[in-house]
Amino acid sequence: MTTVLLAEDDSAISDPLSRALEREGYKVLVAPDGNAALSAALYNDINLVILDLGLPGTDGLEICRRIRDSGRDLLVLMLTARTDEVDFIVGLDAGADDYVGKPFRLAELLARVRALLRRREPEVLEISGVRMEARARRVLVDGAEVSLANKEFELLRALMTRAGQVVPREDIIDEVWHDPSLLTSKTLDMHISWLRRKLAGPNGGVDHRIATVRGVGFRFDSD
Ligand code: CA
Repeated sequence: MTTVLLAEDDSAISDPLSRALEREGYKVLVAPDGNAALSAALYNDINLVILDLGLPGTDGLEICRRIRDSGRDLLVLMLTARTDEVDFIVGLDAGADDYVGKPFRLAELLARVRALLRRREPEVLEISGVRMEARARRVLVDGAEVSLANKEFELLRALMTRAGQVVPREDIIDEVWHDPSLLTSKTLDMHISWLRRKLAGPNGGVDHRIATVRGVGFRFDSD
């Protein structure tokens, strides 16, 4: 199970965020100050830290440096209300993997978390006869290579990494298009239909691996 440490002193942010992370299926630890965050990051089994830059006690930059010095294999997503570029660069210099400016949309933050965690996913996914080679950006269906456009590839990856679960439309839009205004358009449905046709192979027909869950989203069926 993926464990996320949420280091944030503002409960108006950490309460809804920790609930949202739990709904995503992560185990969540909340640390309300720098010292609690640092000891949790160094001594607990954590996969990713959402780290507020302005924490009481030890600040986010110092915690990030200490995590990097420790050599622990942890992803760090920095949250910052200070939006000037210097702070961002310093944040990344300190070894953060990514950052999100405050205020942020919950869906955007969750999409960034998923994108970071995906770096730790296996290079090859193989489900229901579909083989996805992430670094080569290659997809094979029953052994035959299928040529996918960039967004089709990202869409398939969003579904395959959560095979067997319904992936809500808004999550897919955030992850693949990073543009919530597309939620009301036909963009996603069009891409799903192209993807189904390509997965069906050269003999035509429509693939049945991707199920539509009406009013919610789509599910890649694992057999
Ligand atoms: Ca703060």
